[in-house]
Amino acid sequence: MSETLETLRAQLDHQIETRQLLFDITQHIASSGTLDEMLLTIGGILGRALSADGVVIALGGEKAGSLYAPPDAVSTALGHAANALLRHLDQGGAAEISDVTAIPELGKTLKSVRSLIVLPLTAHEARHGFIALAFISAHAMTESEHILLAIVAGQVAVAVENAQAFESMRHSQEQLAAILASTADPVIVIDAKESIVLLNPAAEKALSVRGSEVSGKRIGDVVSAEPLLELLHDGSKADSVEWQNEAGQTYAPRLSEIKAGKQGRRGSVLILRDITRYKTLHANQTEFVSTVSHDLRSPLTYMQGYASMLPMLGELTPKQKDAAEKIVGGIAQMTDLVDKVLDAGRLDPQTGYYDLMREPCDVLKMANEIITTHTMPAEKKDLKLIAHIDQTMPILNLDEAMLKRALNNLVDNAVKYTPEGGTVTVSAAVKESNLVLSVQDTGLGISQENQQHLFERFRRVRRKEHQRVKGSGLGLFIVLNVAQKHGGHAWVESQEGVGSTFFIRVPLEGANLIGGEAKPERRAD
Ligand code: ADP
Repeated sequence: MSETLETLRAQLDHQIETRQLLFDITQHIASSGTLDEMLLTIGGILGRALSADGVVIALGGEKAGSLYAPPDAVSTALGHAANALLRHLDQGGAAEISDVTAIPELGKTLKSVRSLIVLPLTAHEARHGFIALAFISAHAMTESEHILLAIVAGQVAVAVENAQAFESMRHSQEQLAAILASTADPVIVIDAKESIVLLNPAAEKALSVRGSEVSGKRIGDVVSAEPLLELLHDGSKADSVEWQNEAGQTYAPRLSEIKAGKQGRRGSVLILRDITRYKTLHANQTEFVSTVSHDLRSPLTYMQGYASMLPMLGELTPKQKDAAEKIVGGIAQMTDLVDKVLDAGRLDPQTGYYDLMREPCDVLKMANEIITTHTMPAEKKDLKLIAHIDQTMPILNLDEAMLKRALNNLVDNAVKYTPEGGTVTVSAAVKESNLVLSVQDTGLGISQENQQHLFERFRRVRRKEHQRVKGSGLGLFIVLNVAQKHGGHAWVESQEGVGSTFFIRVPLEGANLIGGEAKPERRAD
């Protein structure tokens, strides 16, 4: 009876010891500062608990080759046999080796060892290394030792896996931080509630703030730059937004959303591209072009005058007359180009400085003048030039000079690009509270693809029929910008093989009306 009691007490003591051991190991796993420290301590505890003479924990994966063993001779020998032990596991060898000499590869290195236990560290079906325990004399594992080792191996494997995942995350975070820190463009990351999550050093400098002080604050409370805040609320404005900071640097912001699967938008990344250099270069270039064009204007005017006077200065031979006409034509072409370069520069929405010079404009008179100017060139090409001008056209408050140039460009083009024998129709009417000017031709038409870019600066459609037609690609850019400056628009409707109609629309409202009145001024007939 007392013997049974003794056995029971011994079993109980053993169970308490095992639990205490597991508790110790779990504690170490949870509280160790580093993976190295944890593995060394656990190896030591296990070795002592199982009365092993040597112990080693070997890791695979990213930390392949890392060994954790106490400095005693048997553990050191186990470390030397790590590769052989790994091969033993790879070949599906037993976890418990009662006689090491039976496996020559191990017996050679582990001369003083009698028996061995080798357990793989497996988590989520991946092997992260192994634990090996060595015994100088024969050692048969008890059932509870088996269970204890299996539990510890499982826990250590999970801890190794976690540590490795953490390490790789920290590594990528460090990499990202290094990339952001060395990025010359300011980068600002905000969460879905518009609180600042991250600012790189370039952003701190551009916004004159310190990341540590503004992190977590709402961007609206930190940044007073209106264009940036507007962009955050309406990402579609990205192409047109520019922002200049107090130091005079100009930035073009780009906004991209951070999306995370089904959770939708997690935040946004605002990248500010420093375009100061580009702006300065562009401004210099614009100024240069504008100065040169301006200075060319007056010599061209008197060249035009003198060249036109040549026939009056004396009788010219037919050859001389022809040469004089060519000179006059060439000067007119140069004057047109210089005028267009000047207009395009002034009207450019990005760099232009042009303010509309509004005055009472008689659209009927203006349209008729343009038609008169084009009568001769149209006749030369055997083109029919038709006018459909609404005779009751109101007097409007427009920049007459600019609008005239815009309509002139359209009629010029229609005459230039319509083959001989065709028809050009110039119309002006009031439609749905808009002044609509249009120029229709029976030319070759323009493909859908080319129509989309036609109003961009320097855009010319290359086709063999127009090879001899001279142009700058600035005319339609000017047309569009004149219309837009008046709050309107310009566009083309065209069909290949049929012809094109170009439109200018100016709304009859606000400043476009005389005195900004609600109703257009009636004509005084
Ligand atoms: P350009 O000085 O080259 O005429 P524009 O800006 O006025 O410059 O016109 C741009 C291009 O649009 C032209 O080069 C031409 O290819 C095309 N285009 C303009 N008007 C017409 C038209 N009425 N018919 C066909 N193509 C035209």
